[in-house]
Amino acid sequence: MMHVPMTVGAMMEHAEKFFPKKLVHSQTHDKLHSLSYKEIGERVRKLMSTFTELGIKKGDKIGTLAWNHHRHLEIYFAAPGMNAVLHTINIRLTPEHIIYIINHAEDKLLLVDEDILPLVEQIKDQLTTVEAFIVMTDKPELPDSSLHPLYSYEEIISTGDATFPFSKDIDENDPAGMCYTSATTGKPKGVTYSHRGIVLHSFALGLADSAAISESDVSMPVVPQFHVNAWGTPFACTWFGATQVLPGPRFTPERLATFIEKFRVTISAGVPTIWIGLLQELEKGNYDTSSLRAVLCGGSAAPFGLIQAFEEKYNIPFYHAYGATETTPLATISRLKSYQHGLTKEEKLRERSRQGILVPGLEMKVKGKAGDVAWDDQEMGELLIRGNWIASEYYKDDRSEQAFQEGWFHTGDVVTVDEEGTIKIVDRTKDLIKSGGEWISSVEIENAIMSYPDVLEASVVAIPDAKWQERPIACVVLKDGVKEEGVKEALLAFLEPQFAKYWIPDDVLFYNEIPKTSVGKFLKRQLRDQVKDHYQI
Ligand code: ADP
Repeated sequence: MMHVPMTVGAMMEHAEKFFPKKLVHSQTHDKLHSLSYKEIGERVRKLMSTFTELGIKKGDKIGTLAWNHHRHLEIYFAAPGMNAVLHTINIRLTPEHIIYIINHAEDKLLLVDEDILPLVEQIKDQLTTVEAFIVMTDKPELPDSSLHPLYSYEEIISTGDATFPFSKDIDENDPAGMCYTSATTGKPKGVTYSHRGIVLHSFALGLADSAAISESDVSMPVVPQFHVNAWGTPFACTWFGATQVLPGPRFTPERLATFIEKFRVTISAGVPTIWIGLLQELEKGNYDTSSLRAVLCGGSAAPFGLIQAFEEKYNIPFYHAYGATETTPLATISRLKSYQHGLTKEEKLRERSRQGILVPGLEMKVKGKAGDVAWDDQEMGELLIRGNWIASEYYKDDRSEQAFQEGWFHTGDVVTVDEEGTIKIVDRTKDLIKSGGEWISSVEIENAIMSYPDVLEASVVAIPDAKWQERPIACVVLKDGVKEEGVKEALLAFLEPQFAKYWIPDDVLFYNEIPKTSVGKFLKRQLRDQVKDHYQI
């Protein structure tokens, strides 16, 4: 067989050639743009010629601090297209982490959204490798800024070469992109994506039993483009010629609902908190969401009640997907097998709230206390994954040794596996609650609490306990207008029949909000401190 290098640039060339009329709709600060893949392709080429003029060479890192929009999409292809490296930076991290990431990756150029300039100005003196800045704005004039040298994206590409070629001097194993983990469990760790990994992952997103992305889709990634490349959807969608809707900066649930209706969005992807917000909006307004054929939910466990509301109330197919920065990210998806279609509604929802089975192309094993666990949905163990779109190390980081051993990525996630091979994420190793020698899954209790009608959000954390080692405490945010009185007792009574006695939280604490990470996951480290302060321990 031939061996043709798989490259990110070739994906854009394919879109230019075969889907020149298909559109990307993009919301920026000032307006809604609609550009064809022909136009996007030309702009990508102009951008590559601009980067070349600015001195960018093979292997240089190009950092982005940006929301989901067409300019960000263009950099997705221009950086790897010229054999440089796209480095998407999570704008919601702390300034300390952002400085660390930019210096650690050795970014040479930073492309920044207009509203993120103040943040970059604040940290500019601590950036050791950045040589120039480009601001992404619709305005004709450069904003007032202390950054230097600073160029305007539109101005600088306007004189670029619209026929600039995609580099052919690319080994498919060369780095195409970089992303740092969202620091849920410590200092961000860098992951490098090869051209080959991105292309193979895009194939996986197109499989009928996976996300099934195709030309006829209208895809709206809500998951940020700075978070694991919006789960890789912009690459796959461009390659397959799907229409894309990029919802732009500081979007609201109202904007998302409006865009779903306006553009007849067929597939969207995001973390549970996004869907909790959208659900509240759908309950308020009268939106037509009938175009949606799939909502992909990942990043943390989707509560059963959330899946149920989407599926039953709004008739929107809701798929749980699982992955991590290290897995590009798609690893598993919760699709039913053909012979499971006869299950009852309740059983189907239960299946759907598991994280699903591994997508073809990957391998997994689950390591328990005594070797590989049985597929009995009882025994817990750590999930290990390997495959062609799984990272093999962290970028210049000695934490690699712990996470990557003997050719397997150790996910740090504890799972059970049922006889179908479907995984259920029980917890992160760090969040499991160890009580009296047994393990308690905080995630399962959270999910049960979040299916209680008065509850908006819930997170369960451990506090130290002299007798049991650790005990679970439930932290709950009630829905608007619900009074706290009596809820604790009713909630515990609701949980009792569902769990073994020792799983029932010792207490329920009410909060106005649960602290969240930069990508909307519950920040348990901080919550644990709040709870300990509450009990003065
Ligand atoms: P971080 O590790 O900093 O949180 P990632 O975005 O890479 O950054 O998070 C990956 C982790 O998110 C996984 O290891 C897992 O714990 C969690 N996760 C991802 N998808 C799911 C899901 N569908 N259900 C439960 N947990 C999930």
